[in-house]
Amino acid sequence: MTVRFNIPYKAPKALAYVEDVLQRGKTSGNHSFSKSCTSWFRKQFYAKHLLTTSCTDALEMAALLCDIQPGDEVIIPSYTFVSTANPFVLRGASLRFADSSSTHPNCTIHEIEPLLSPATKAIVIMHYGGVACDIEPILALCKKHNIYLIEDAAQCIGASYKGRFLGSFGACSSFSFHESKNISCGEGGLLAVNEEAFKKRAEILWEKGTDRAAFWRGEVDKYGWKDIGSSYLLSDILAAVLWAQLENADRLKEDRLRKWQRYDDAFAPLQAKKLNLPQVPFFASHNGHIYYVVTEGLSQREELQNHLKSHGIESYFHYQSLHKSDFMKDRYQGPALPNADAFSEGLLRLPIHYYLDELQQDHVISTVLDYYK
Ligand SMILES: *Cc1c(COP(=O)(O)O)cnc(C)c1O
Repeated sequence: MTVRFNIPYKAPKALAYVEDVLQRGKTSGNHSFSKSCTSWFRKQFYAKHLLTTSCTDALEMAALLCDIQPGDEVIIPSYTFVSTANPFVLRGASLRFADSSSTHPNCTIHEIEPLLSPATKAIVIMHYGGVACDIEPILALCKKHNIYLIEDAAQCIGASYKGRFLGSFGACSSFSFHESKNISCGEGGLLAVNEEAFKKRAEILWEKGTDRAAFWRGEVDKYGWKDIGSSYLLSDILAAVLWAQLENADRLKEDRLRKWQRYDDAFAPLQAKKLNLPQVPFFASHNGHIYYVVTEGLSQREELQNHLKSHGIESYFHYQSLHKSDFMKDRYQGPALPNADAFSEGLLRLPIHYYLDELQQDHVISTVLDYYK
């Protein structure tokens, strides 16, 4: 039996919607399927929602909106994807890397607060696996020091913190619809702008620095160059694929959560054997994006991964701590970040997707249990 790590969901109506866009010929961005997608998000939380070509691009827009400049410092987690970092490096910011907490890949206020300096302009948090960071204390810190909070909510569709959807807390927040995410259209993203003062400018940066979006709404009689900007819009062809998935978002989330819980129940006895399982704090309601286990370290993880592989099961580790990456290691001057390194070396992700059936999941479960016997 082979068990794939991820197979993107193929929505039944996706091809019909794409055909519809092609027939109508409105294939560029900001057309009808784009609007359906952003209205789905508007029902989750009120913000200015803009579909982008990727989450990375949404974060580039966030860095522009926060007016990040050379000399500014931005605090980001070390245990995250490079796209949390690059948009700020591109603007010339210096990065300050926060460690993960000891029990979770996420950062808390305790890792973040010591990194504050008068030059801090923004704090970027990333909610790993759609499990919320403890946002309230971080938000209070941002308010006190007049710093922007940015949420990298790439993995967070449908997940919440104390009953409020992730992505609704930051001045700007980004989501991803990359193939690897719960809801996907190949490559795609979304910027949610919550900061009132950014909303008008966001639309201009998005549309190559022009007021074309206002022109389409009939608010101006011609459009022109107003500001810096780039081409960040998602094509309506991809928005059609995305909409077909969003129509099934609730069902897909339920399915993932059920499979996530099945793993968690089956592995509970392994905690006595020093295998750490994902922690979900009381304030977080997640979306089953990732099921992972944390082994004791690199050699045990490799052994477990090879054991799974020899039984036909794909599994993956995740991020290399960014402060230890080839790009950063000679530039990094901060302290050791042992928790981020422990997740970097010990964490292994197991298959979870819509097409994972019960037999396959049983095979994964028994193979892991067998390794720890
Ligand atoms: C997937 C992911 C991204 C990048 O998303 P793209 O849409 O591929 O640009 C950024 N940050 C995190 C935490 C991610 O998981």
